[in-house]
Amino acid sequence: MKNFNAGLENAKLWIFDADDTLWESGLYFRRAENDFAALMHSLGYEPAEIVSEIHTRDLERLSVTGYGARPYMSVLRSMLEDKFTVLSPYMLTALDDISYSLLHHPLVLLPGVLDSIKRMYTSGKRMIVYTMGEEDHQTDKFKRSGISQFFEKCTVVPIKTEETLRQLLASTGTAPAEACMIGNSPRSDINPAIGCGVNALFVQRPLTWQAEQIEFVKPELVTTVADLTEVLPLAGLGRIDPAPSAEG
Ligand SMILES: [Mg+2]
Repeated sequence: MKNFNAGLENAKLWIFDADDTLWESGLYFRRAENDFAALMHSLGYEPAEIVSEIHTRDLERLSVTGYGARPYMSVLRSMLEDKFTVLSPYMLTALDDISYSLLHHPLVLLPGVLDSIKRMYTSGKRMIVYTMGEEDHQTDKFKRSGISQFFEKCTVVPIKTEETLRQLLASTGTAPAEACMIGNSPRSDINPAIGCGVNALFVQRPLTWQAEQIEFVKPELVTTVADLTEVLPLAGLGRIDPAPSAEG
């Protein structure tokens, strides 16, 4: 862990991204992609070519439809509609099932999240969740997470920008330098934070969506952590003791 953020122990507001920072998300988009590729394989298409087409179309539609599970599903549906003049009951049912799995995926916290968030809460840290996508879907996940009681609120925006972050800071009465943004997306979490003068902690995750992987605007201002337990010492709190081993 490289640490450029000195003085974070005095931060007054901790802003957490949700998807792939607090809980698994990209994993379920990947599963939907695999399921759709398998469906198309059954209809005579090459899975690798389908996956490649999904990625291309997904990037193209972003500026039009914004982020979220339903816009993603509309990409898959449009691919089917472009290839078949009439969608059969088999295709429609499969598409519905893939959509249902994605919208109602299990809510699984990432390693270290539960203990770290509890620790910060009991230490009196002020924390909020700040996420992008569709309001109902994101709020539903927040409610299902089992950790909602530790946060002051959950703010959902269609897309994260410097402007939406400034509005969030204003709504909480926090100066940028007194806030810390924690997230897995260089594009949506880290660069807007740096642009606003907010401290930035980058959570490195293996399945971050390709559209989110861009260069940091000022890499020298970004601290990278492997998981949320590494945030505790930065916040002036002791590390959590590892679980006792079988040997005791
Ligand atoms: Mg995220």
